[in-house]
Amino acid sequence: DPDQTLSLHPIVYNDEQWLLVARDVSRLMHLQKVRRDFVANVSHELRTPLTVVHGYLDMIEPEDHPELAGIVDEMRRQSHRMTHLVEDLLTLSRLEAQDALAEEETVAMRPLLDTLRREALALSQGRHRILVSDLCNCDLRGSTKELHSAFSNLISNAVRYTPTGGEIEVRYEAETDGGVRFAVRDSGHGIPSQHLARLTERFYRVSTSRSRDSGGTGLGLSIVKHVLALHQSHLEVSSRMGIGSVFSCRFEAERIVPRSEEAVNA
Ligand code: ADP
Repeated sequence: DPDQTLSLHPIVYNDEQWLLVARDVSRLMHLQKVRRDFVANVSHELRTPLTVVHGYLDMIEPEDHPELAGIVDEMRRQSHRMTHLVEDLLTLSRLEAQDALAEEETVAMRPLLDTLRREALALSQGRHRILVSDLCNCDLRGSTKELHSAFSNLISNAVRYTPTGGEIEVRYEAETDGGVRFAVRDSGHGIPSQHLARLTERFYRVSTSRSRDSGGTGLGLSIVKHVLALHQSHLEVSSRMGIGSVFSCRFEAERIVPRSEEAVNA
């Protein structure tokens, strides 16, 4: 049956005897698809009313209604938050529905790292020391758009969870065995070890109040996880309380393209 999905688990007893357990997971897969489609549809339907609310809020001039200024500001803030949430939900549904990248290109890492540095500076607004080091003379095969979103998420977390005066270091460097690593290190609060394994779950938050105040949607690391999986990579996290965290990922040699002469001289 082409609609049937089986999950196969071989159990080896010894050299001669083994057992193959086949589990029919078609219904589970179907339910997952229903959930994904539902979330995607709801998010899509929320876009239009949100645009209308934004439009009307933008028409209110605070100076004409001084008594409403604080309220209108808060309404704008919350409606922006909701827009981000809807956008992240749509991004996540789109990523979840993909088994592989639809198309691959050469991701020019130098301009991408420049963009990430500018974004980090804008977000930090001078509150942190930000270092971006490009220590690898190569680019990556993959999706520029998706990798940009994953790397931005890691950097925006580092900025949001690091107090004023802290340091954020982004490194893109070659590993000794032919792979490359992209790493974001911060000198922030740190994450207690019991939370590390669950960070990429949707809406999982270490400290709910602090995370909500930080302006995130709770979906950032889920998006990162899916983008990395589409590039045969995964997120690695290490953290020490009061010292900071390192979020990094490794790309295998097959994904690496040496930079062309023009790119090196640019
Ligand atoms: P959020 O939008 O809440 O930041 P994420 O999925 O990006 O959602 O991150 C999940 C949780 O992981 C955050 O709520 C926060 O508790 C924790 N976290 C992520 N990055 C960091 C970091 N650099 N330092 C400390 N905690 C972090």
